[in-house]
Amino acid sequence: MNMSDSERVKAVIERVGFIPTDNEDEASLLGVLSCSVRQKPIDKVYNRIHVWNKKKSRQHIITFVSGCVLPDDRDKFLKLFDFVFPMSELNDFPNMLKEYGVASPLLLNQEPGASQNAFPIELPNHHFKPVSKIGLKPEKPRMPSNQDIFQLWNVKPNYQSEFEAYVPIQNGCDKFCSFCAVPYTRGREVSRPSAEIIMEVKELMLNGYKSITLLGQNVNSYGLDRDAEISFAELLAKIGELGITLKNPSWVYFTSPHLRDMSRDVIEAIAKYPVLAKQIHLPLQSGDDQVLVKMNRKHNLDRYRESVAHIRELIPQATLFIDIIVGFTGETEEQFLNTVKSFDEFQFNMAYVAMYSPRPGAQSFRWENDISQTAKKDRLQRLSNKLEEISGNYNQHMIGKTLKVLVRTKERKTGYLSGVTEGKLVTRILSKDTGLIGQFVMVTITDASGLSIAGELVAINAETTITN
Ligand code: SF4
Repeated sequence: MNMSDSERVKAVIERVGFIPTDNEDEASLLGVLSCSVRQKPIDKVYNRIHVWNKKKSRQHIITFVSGCVLPDDRDKFLKLFDFVFPMSELNDFPNMLKEYGVASPLLLNQEPGASQNAFPIELPNHHFKPVSKIGLKPEKPRMPSNQDIFQLWNVKPNYQSEFEAYVPIQNGCDKFCSFCAVPYTRGREVSRPSAEIIMEVKELMLNGYKSITLLGQNVNSYGLDRDAEISFAELLAKIGELGITLKNPSWVYFTSPHLRDMSRDVIEAIAKYPVLAKQIHLPLQSGDDQVLVKMNRKHNLDRYRESVAHIRELIPQATLFIDIIVGFTGETEEQFLNTVKSFDEFQFNMAYVAMYSPRPGAQSFRWENDISQTAKKDRLQRLSNKLEEISGNYNQHMIGKTLKVLVRTKERKTGYLSGVTEGKLVTRILSKDTGLIGQFVMVTITDASGLSIAGELVAINAETTITN
């Protein structure tokens, strides 16, 4: 979500004339989109702003923070950053800059005699006061209104990749899992109008994007908040039909869904349409029913079993990814072992395993964080070993198969290409032809390990021509 948001931030900043740089030292405007899901990313934000503020004694710098910010952090950020604003107010950012006397490069260039290369610009030599302190924005943070969110979606993103794109379709969450602060930072569920989504997806397909991911905190709750709108399954079907009409070879993913809204018709749509990728990320969070109750997930293991049975029946080739938390408040060894057993039962291909960390604002923040860090690390390690064993077995079965792979990058150490299959299996390609990055190729798998596969390039241009 932050990657997607950053594409919109970049578009708004560039609109007023700033240009991006890879060199932080020459930047006049520095910002960060924070993530409150865990403490570690927040710690990184604090580290970064301290570095930036030190630089201010010798350099003119404007700083901002946006993204997912909890109220406690917001109050602290107000003292550290020049601008603190929620993503829903991104459209106002150029006005905020103007209000504070920051001359944007575009304005400078419009003045008679101004240089066309007025960057890096000379910014006023004073420390800007936090936005809320002089009354431009309300002192108290408020939940974004639907209107704010719609305006944010209307910002045309400045995509960072020429072959992978993220399309936000839903914002917020009504589920209130006890460990999670998202409903308090992102607000309640709201869905983007389907016509806008279809338009953005169509444009991406026509521009040759190979991997398109529909995004939402509860992506498959799409449509539940809007009486007149279509359901998530219907949205998928529309995108599926679009893929057929355009003879489009891309892979369309979605993340993250919630099990409660994972209806059979969603799985049927994925099975039916070739453009909908056969990879499903279905968070479980714990393999123990009692822990699930404590987490307020409002589903049990049987419900998960039922959904996985539908997936295996209708899309047997689909890979299955999950999110899991270890060391949640009060999690016993026996309860943890139930999570390990769930790995054996469901044969996950990938698991994003997190050690529980209490988040201010979430319900569980008030509960005792009674599992030691050592025990959490131990559980994380044991679960990672289990995952490698299971996914390693699966990967072994890929040897000898020829798979379509999207080349994403080159490995830093070896120089070999790296890509992903439709099921998001990480694949090393025994080629160093970086001209293939962003292309579909065919790879015959010759080797497999716990978390990846490797093979020889046997064909390039593994795609159908796009037609309008
Ligand atoms: S479903 Fe639960 S974990 Fe996911 S965003 Fe909502 S509250 Fe957080």
